Amino acid sequence: MSDIRVLVVGASGRMGREVVRAVAQAEDMTVAAAVDRCRAGEDAGRVAGIGPLGVVISESLSDVIAKSSPDAVVDFTLPTAVLGNVRTAVRAGVACVVGTTGLTEKDVSELKGLCEERKQSVLIVPNFAIGAVLMMQFTAQAARHFEAAEIVELHHAGKADAPSGTALRTAQLMARSAGSKFTGKDSSDGRSSRGQAEGAIHIHSVRLPGLVAHQEVIFGSLGETLTIRHDSTSRECFMPGVLLAIRRVRGIKGLAVGLEQVL
Ligand code: NAP
Repeated sequence: MSDIRVLVVGASGRMGREVVRAVAQAEDMTVAAAVDRCRAGEDAGRVAGIGPLGVVISESLSDVIAKSSPDAVVDFTLPTAVLGNVRTAVRAGVACVVGTTGLTEKDVSELKGLCEERKQSVLIVPNFAIGAVLMMQFTAQAARHFEAAEIVELHHAGKADAPSGTALRTAQLMARSAGSKFTGKDSSDGRSSRGQAEGAIHIHSVRLPGLVAHQEVIFGSLGETLTIRHDSTSRECFMPGVLLAIRRVRGIKGLAVGLEQVL
């Protein structure tokens, strides 16, 4: 079977460099092309710290898609760039794995329509770490039994969006869980130190140097609390999920959200 040809967008960033390393080391994949507005013109392998791959980082996604014929695009850029990149990939007929967080519900709905129109596959994954996927499933389960919960998400200081995509997804899954007690609206008095309300659940965002990606969901009830916590201590934890998503994305019909769709 021939290698899956992968185009990495955001190849010079923290996650993009990790993806270039993981794809280059995967037996069934090749880094076919790399795009970033930062360090354009340099070899993607050198930028990722693994030596030359013969893949020059380019600034234009559409040009590179036309030249490299990728099987899948993987996007780890910024909330301001991701929508345009996914539109470009889908219109060019390439399946897309989206790791970038910060897409709004309106953005996702537009992309869903575009995928249906073009019969193309997009998988949006708010968190590729298997532990984080399980954390979301456990919190959805607990949401049937507790009436109050808050989310504290903690990330490195360079993170562009707040609250995190994982925190928003967790709150949505908790509210949608069968029998959930979190289907209502925010009933607090709106004081800003109480975090941002996503439906009935308040999310608190901490941004500090020294952190990678962490989240606690604290449930409270009469005389007890339950804390479900996940910690990503290294960006390597996301890579098995990223490689799995790349392998499976072309089997998805239209647009899907969450790594659990391909587990
Ligand atoms: P980062 O280090 O800032 O990397 C983003 C890269 O994309 C930078 O090199 C940036 O260039 C480049 N870029 C920005 N706009 C671009 C454009 N229009 N075209 C091409 N390249 C562009 O960020 P990161 O820490 O890697 O995180 C990237 C995204 O992944 C964030 O949204 C983050 O929340 C998300 N993330 C997701 C997961 C997950 O499991 N789904 C895990 C971790 C992180 P400049 O430096 O010039 O801006």
